[in-house]
Amino acid sequence: MKDMAAGVVSDLFIIGGGINGCGIARDATGRGLSVTLAEQGDLAQGTSSASTKLFHGGLRYLEYFEFRLVREALEERETLLVAMPHISWPMRFVLPLSPEMRFETTTPTSRLLRWVMPWAKGRRPDWLIRLGLFMYDTMGGRKILPGARSLDLTRDPAGKPLRPKFRKAFEYSDCWVEDSRLVVLNARDAEQRGAKIMTRTRVVSAERQGDLWHILTEGPDGRAQHQARALVNAGGPG
Ligand SMILES: Cc1cc2nc3c(=O)[nH]c(=O)nc-3n(C[C@H](O)[C@H](O)[C@H](O)COP(=O)(O)OP(=O)(O)OC[C@H]3O[C@@H](n4cnc5c(N)ncnc54)[C@H](O)[C@@H]3O)c2cc1C
Repeated sequence: MKDMAAGVVSDLFIIGGGINGCGIARDATGRGLSVTLAEQGDLAQGTSSASTKLFHGGLRYLEYFEFRLVREALEERETLLVAMPHISWPMRFVLPLSPEMRFETTTPTSRLLRWVMPWAKGRRPDWLIRLGLFMYDTMGGRKILPGARSLDLTRDPAGKPLRPKFRKAFEYSDCWVEDSRLVVLNARDAEQRGAKIMTRTRVVSAERQGDLWHILTEGPDGRAQHQARALVNAGGPG
């Protein structure tokens, strides 16, 4: 067994090479920390290559009055678009409306509407959706993506595949991204800044002794011991 403990002590040891592990590795090396990351298989082999490939500002969180979260996500969306235009693209979403539509009843917005507009009975007035999209357009200092607009579905091509009851819609912007490439680019950048990125290397155990973590890994070259001041478990939801 290799004993890395006798040598370097990392500031940070990260378990998992998904978007969280690699993103944290990049962020930490950018702040001057020494980082070691172990991924048991290939980078982005888990959830981070099986997402819907959207990076968005979290429109639905407006329903929950999570304004700060939405603002931060929208700001981050613009930052990512600038940082990696070769793997991320704007995407337009069409939100068709019909008076028959009913919305989830348990959100804070629904509860408020039940109180101030009891006659709405689960409907969302058009003006409220437009207000939400206006906030979505403006909260994050949008510079790149086109803003929301109304569509007349009786004329617009977006209305063609829809039933005639959908006469009106709103169109707004979010983005999509090649999720696994995003992970690998984060890992490569972290490595260029000095991080040690180990693939095919499983963390077998981690134990805190005094001020340090003692981490045992198993990789292509057998078992190895590592030491780190801090440990991040980004081993994913699985
Ligand atoms: C269907 C679906 C759609 C989604 N859509 C979106 C979306 O549109 N937008 C969005 O932002 N998010 C979306 N998500 C959520 C997003 O994909 C996850 O939040 C994110 O990928 C989690 O990343 P992670 O790094 O925490 O985990 P993972 O990507 O699962 O990475 C964990 C890694 O840890 C490794 N690992 C585990 N144990 C060990 C060990 N002992 N030693 C070494 N390595 C280990 C695993 O092999 C794995 O590679 C979606 C998720 C799903 C499932």
